[in-house]
Amino acid sequence: MRGAFKLGNVAGIGIYIHWTFAILIIFIIFSNYQSGSNTQQIAWAVLFVLSIFVTVFLHELGHALAAKRYNIKTKDITMLPIGGLARLESIPEKPFEELVVAIAGPAVNIALALFTGLFITLPNTEVLVAELSNGVNAHNFFLNFLVVNVWLALFNLIPAFPMDGGRVLRALLAMKFERHIATNIAARIGQLLAIGFIFLGFYGNPMLIFIGFFIFLGAQAEAQMVQTKSMLTGYTVKNALIQQYQTIEATEPVSTAVHLLLNSQYKTFLVTQNSYPVGTLNRDDIIRALSQKGDAEPVAFVMDTNLVYIDAHLPLEEAYQQMQQQQANFVLVKENDHFVGIVDNENILEFILVKSALAQKR
Ligand SMILES: [Zn+2]
Repeated sequence: MRGAFKLGNVAGIGIYIHWTFAILIIFIIFSNYQSGSNTQQIAWAVLFVLSIFVTVFLHELGHALAAKRYNIKTKDITMLPIGGLARLESIPEKPFEELVVAIAGPAVNIALALFTGLFITLPNTEVLVAELSNGVNAHNFFLNFLVVNVWLALFNLIPAFPMDGGRVLRALLAMKFERHIATNIAARIGQLLAIGFIFLGFYGNPMLIFIGFFIFLGAQAEAQMVQTKSMLTGYTVKNALIQQYQTIEATEPVSTAVHLLLNSQYKTFLVTQNSYPVGTLNRDDIIRALSQKGDAEPVAFVMDTNLVYIDAHLPLEEAYQQMQQQQANFVLVKENDHFVGIVDNENILEFILVKSALAQKR
């Protein structure tokens, strides 16, 4: 992720922190200062935010270590001001494994809350509310820490995507139904909940409206992704292969690419040198080149040199996933070590549209 600094490695997983985290700390110092807090109070507030940060990190590590049990690697964990993000290489598709991986995060929070509970005595509700509205200090630090962990566990267990609870629900449903059906049911339940949150938000806490929208969109995205994947099942890359594409020589100037872009239906070009693929050039690359270097620049200096090759016999589902992960919307296809054509995102989407139209007709 851009703008993230590496903090170190834990269990072979790179741990990163995003620079915007510094803004959060500055904001907390500033807003505490504004409201007349003294240095000690500010220090406690900052310490508390850091402790939440560690908590969120442990939550993500919980997911990552659970995934590791099933031989799923985690590329990295990035800490953002809004939370943590563990990028797993894949999501386990066996229901029980998905259940364990999804629940491992909230389980960390529950464990932390229980552990903290051993060392403090819980006050009654009235005192609790009074303490929590006081701001963090030496006296109520661990009480606040416990409450945050309970809250994080509950929030993440809301049974809706993109929360962990949505995955838990899907995993449970997938023990009985096919995965894409289970996803659909879980997504619908999540959206119903989201509408409920938005509705409640109008009568009470406006924050719920925000959470409701967040969940609504997350549910939709997850349902769509699984739907897409299930549409691709049973096909290989060869089924979506494009043998007609536009090439451009690496020595040609950008102006040639502009001409091609304006006069053909192609949006991405394969850059070749002595008829051998050396890079790709899409509309964005061309526009960037025009504004930064002018149209006389050779294509070779502005092309994307990151060529991704996939095998023609690879299941289309897997190819699609790889393209998403590598953020490549244009990949080269090889069959028996020969370059045979390309596959692009647009074409896969068309492929899905055709399949879904046919499925509806049946
Ligand atoms: Zn989680």
